[in-house]
Amino acid sequence: MTTNLLNLPGYKVVGVEESAHDYHINAEISNPPFTCEGCGSDRLIGHGRNAQVIRDMPTHGKRVAIYLENRRWRCLDCKKTFMEPLPAVNAKREMTERLTRWIGQQSLKRTFASIADDTGLDEKTIRNIFRDYVNELEAEFRFETPRWMGIDEIHLIKYRGVITNIQNNSIVELLPNRNKETIIKYFARLEGRETIKYVSTDMWMPYREAVELMLPNATIIVDKFHVVKMANEAMEKVRKSFRESLTPKQRRGLRHDRFVLLKREHTLTDEEVLLLSGWVRNYPELGLAHKLKENFFKIYDSCSSDEALERFAAWEISVTHEVRDAFSDLIRAWRNWQPYIVSYFDHPLTNAYTESLNSLIRVMDRLGRGYSFEALRAKILFTEGAHAHKNRRPKFERNAMQQPKERFLDDLNDGAIEYGVPDEGFGRVLMRSPKPPKDDYPHGANELPKNYGADINTLIALLEAGKL
Ligand SMILES: [Zn+2]
Repeated sequence: MTTNLLNLPGYKVVGVEESAHDYHINAEISNPPFTCEGCGSDRLIGHGRNAQVIRDMPTHGKRVAIYLENRRWRCLDCKKTFMEPLPAVNAKREMTERLTRWIGQQSLKRTFASIADDTGLDEKTIRNIFRDYVNELEAEFRFETPRWMGIDEIHLIKYRGVITNIQNNSIVELLPNRNKETIIKYFARLEGRETIKYVSTDMWMPYREAVELMLPNATIIVDKFHVVKMANEAMEKVRKSFRESLTPKQRRGLRHDRFVLLKREHTLTDEEVLLLSGWVRNYPELGLAHKLKENFFKIYDSCSSDEALERFAAWEISVTHEVRDAFSDLIRAWRNWQPYIVSYFDHPLTNAYTESLNSLIRVMDRLGRGYSFEALRAKILFTEGAHAHKNRRPKFERNAMQQPKERFLDDLNDGAIEYGVPDEGFGRVLMRSPKPPKDDYPHGANELPKNYGADINTLIALLEAGKL
């Protein structure tokens, strides 16, 4: 009975004391050494004892400590003295190997505080074990360097840099912040960075500067989503500027109906068209802002960068002084980022990626509170079963010439998805159920499986199920 309680090979339980919260287990090593560590002689004599307390896995909801009289031996031939080795014990931490492994695994699922409480160890010890565990995971999971890389931001306590593989719809790294130095350091230690061909980013200058410095051959592309979003924001500024002149009732009405302004015009229902026409008739400036927003989206129907430049020039002229202020951020962003914005038209990225990443950003706040950034990063990158690792090749990518450009994002969600307007279908991107990656490439059978990072759709599914 007492032997079963410990269930640890190499030890013999000689006594158990149980209290409300703890098991105190007295044990002995079952097979003391017969030969000298130094010379192999079997002429050993006892040379004192050393009381040790080894922490072990919690059992039946109680903390467990193993008490050992660890013996010191002396060799009669070479005179060397040595402690008898403790099987299955992590000597550095004075705990069983199985406890360190368990704490490592638990630390990706629970807060350090709750693990400290279960084991009776302090949080600092848990954090140190967690760090060692993450280092092991880093060595075990080497993610492929993306050919099409995304650099974006994600809010985890504060804004963090997120590095993605666009072709494989996966996350390969989370950076503690969005500083230029942080990105540069990341690139400096990234293997195969010369194979990165395209980098899609939002309009954050430190990203651009770091990429230009470290990846001089990569083409930077500003994702359409980040640009058209600003057209919606400009229109929102105009809408909000009316608040003062409205009665409280009208104000609530306009707030309630703003989704008809944000939605793409060609997706409105008859009823919504009526709603919209009411507002733009009564507020001509709002109507103007709405028209500018719609026309700005249409720039993205262009088939080439030259056409996009022409369309933008015509659009900019149509931004008249009444609403110029509201659209000034968008116009400035276009000017500052023009070559990167229009390179999108020659290298359109996949819509699935933008949809997935935005869905992930929205559900991210479901990650529990009480976690450090390092723990959140490890949860996202190393959670078991989240890796897109069975693909031996990137997903098939359509030839850019044949890619239908207006399909970048579902029109319904175009640029408006951050607004979260409470209307069915609007402000939500429908999630695709994660598909198991295919691993049946007949010509790649001898290659080692490659790991492309944490699959974004799988992460979303895990977060929504409360499993991350
Ligand atoms: Zn010896």
